[in-house]
Amino acid sequence: MFAKIIDGKAIAKQVRQEVAERVQRRIQCGKRVPALAVILLGSNPVSKIYVTNKCHACEEVGFLSYSYFLPITTSETQILSLIKELNDNKDIDGILIQLPLPPSINTLHVIQAVSPLKDVDGFHPYNVGRLCTRSPAMLRPCTPLGIITLLDRCNIDLCSLHAVVVGASNIVGRPMSMELLLAGCTTTVTHRFTKNLYRYVKDADLLIVAVGKPHFISGQWIKSGAIVIDVGINRLKNGNIVGDVDFEEASKIAGWITPVPGGVGPMTVAILIQNTLNICEMNDKIV
Ligand code: NAP
Repeated sequence: MFAKIIDGKAIAKQVRQEVAERVQRRIQCGKRVPALAVILLGSNPVSKIYVTNKCHACEEVGFLSYSYFLPITTSETQILSLIKELNDNKDIDGILIQLPLPPSINTLHVIQAVSPLKDVDGFHPYNVGRLCTRSPAMLRPCTPLGIITLLDRCNIDLCSLHAVVVGASNIVGRPMSMELLLAGCTTTVTHRFTKNLYRYVKDADLLIVAVGKPHFISGQWIKSGAIVIDVGINRLKNGNIVGDVDFEEASKIAGWITPVPGGVGPMTVAILIQNTLNICEMNDKIV
């Protein structure tokens, strides 16, 4: 058996196209175009590529984007003061802080400084809390919502599936588990202290892996016909990008699978763009 490929690139293109159409309708009605501010501290080349891609995606759908490339020596006080300025700026809808931040900066302080109404990444405890408590979620973390969107657009019914999330980070694993609970899955979250990980993986109808270790999940562990979502992005010494799952083996056993690259990655950016437009539309109602 060969798995069906979940084409994140194509689905992300659809989402970006839908956003672009909504922006055009705004322009026709004489409304303001959405604007995203992106802050990057330091000169990590991979982070720079991510920021450039996000700004490029903004321009492609007709948004304004402002990037703030700050030196690694920037103090926490300076970054908090820039965030305050952006919070107060009515022309900015979304504020994104590219993570990880240098160890000299307290990431939680920075995330909490962003207004929950401009929190495009959905990382502010207020927005995470809404997701955890089944309150109508305002802004939901981009990668997990991107994965839910992918599954939805492939018409995969999640209700009653046993979903296993490998990795429990604040960015992916934890909010993913909340999204899966909302979707009606019975959800297991595994992490570095989980014993006999393969046993959980073997029982997963839906497997979501976000660990950051190349080929961490062997194809042999996967249940026949399972849906496999690989969030990992790992650059090998030869320059190739691979996921956390052994795709070649897993695709012979799974029912559905995301490739890396071209699976979850493009969806994260598409949902970021969608979140920015949603904020802008909420602001129409407030003004
Ligand atoms: P992270 O913050 O490093 O978290 C990794 C998680 O994996 C942690 O929760 C850690 O557990 C867990 N882990 C480590 N060893 C494990 C083990 N042996 N068994 C089970 N879990 C284990 O990374 P992240 O930000 O979540 O990212 C994970 C990967 O996804 C990276 O490759 C990243 O580049 C990629 N990513 C991709 C996208 C995208 O758009 N495609 C978005 C975000 C991240 P503890 O919590 O116990 O430490």
